[in-house]
Amino acid sequence: MTNRIANQMAEELRKASRVALFSHVSPDGDCIGSTLGLGLALEALGKEVYMYNSDPIPRNLGFLPGVKKMRTELPAPFPKVLLFVDCTDLQRVNLESGDFPADSLILNLDHHISNQNFGHINWVDSQASATGEIAYELIRLLGVKLSQDIATNLYTAILTDTGSFKYSNTTSKTHQIAGELMDSGIDFGDIHHHVFDRTPLAKLELLRRGLNQLQVLAQGQFAMMTLHKVDFEEIGAEESLGEGLIDHARTLEGVEVAALLKEVNAVIRVSLRSNRWFDVNKIASHFGGGGHKRAAGCTLEMPLEEAKELLLQTIEEELALGRS
Ligand code: 5GP
Ligand code: MN
Ligand code: MN
Repeated sequence: MTNRIANQMAEELRKASRVALFSHVSPDGDCIGSTLGLGLALEALGKEVYMYNSDPIPRNLGFLPGVKKMRTELPAPFPKVLLFVDCTDLQRVNLESGDFPADSLILNLDHHISNQNFGHINWVDSQASATGEIAYELIRLLGVKLSQDIATNLYTAILTDTGSFKYSNTTSKTHQIAGELMDSGIDFGDIHHHVFDRTPLAKLELLRRGLNQLQVLAQGQFAMMTLHKVDFEEIGAEESLGEGLIDHARTLEGVEVAALLKEVNAVIRVSLRSNRWFDVNKIASHFGGGGHKRAAGCTLEMPLEEAKELLLQTIEEELALGRS
């Protein structure tokens, strides 16, 4: 089944002369790495490629080959073929269906269990650790040689979504693909250095404040971290610097569920993680978001204190139900 869908998607891309790629708001290594890897591969096939993200690129991804080609303005005119990368639904891109021509061909390439199958062709594989794995397969199907630039982007996509190959989404296939990418001559030490080992002081400052506001709840099973608007303002940190801080709450001994609540503009951005059994996608989906079983997110439009109460109550209830 997937083979047929994969071939259909490759065929549509082969036929297209112009393609626009879209990735999700609050971008991460997977959506940017997969977009750039695919974008460069399509360019190698002679296509005119437009790569869009509505938000700025996180600082630690600024080294990715081709990153200067990313645009924050929508393409004009729109190409016929639109490829959505690592997006569960159109809202994740800040797009409404009226924002692009009705006769567009929508290709949906993703690995989220909560994907809404919003495309004409939906290649959604929730077994894949990262959209980067699926992008790798698509590039292979297209017959494009894995250049060092393409491989650097795909490796970064997989590296970031697997938490350096340690989350439970990592499979032997993940390692096989990473091995192929390493064989294309990438400097993986340099990639790790750029992605993880150049922490801006502002990020440590955010962590300091996050830890100050850490609460361990539900008999030690739930750890909740909060960052207020003023924390970001006083430090001069952008929201994307909060990425990864939640792991300090998740890895606390005895914790099954962790949440990071960030007060951003007038809304609360919630990140959720679990360790062994708790389904955070269920909680995020309940509040209009989504993601995976072990990593998910949503946005709550209410004051921070209310959001904390609501989350605590919902998660406590779900924890009380226990493992199903
Ligand atoms: P993070 O907590 O790192 O922002 O996101 C964790 C996972 O949940 C990622 O796979 C991300 O794409 C997904 N996710 C985060 N926020 C949302 C949201 O508001 N809606 C949906 N559908 N997925 C989200
Ligand atoms: Mn993502
Ligand atoms: Mn992803």
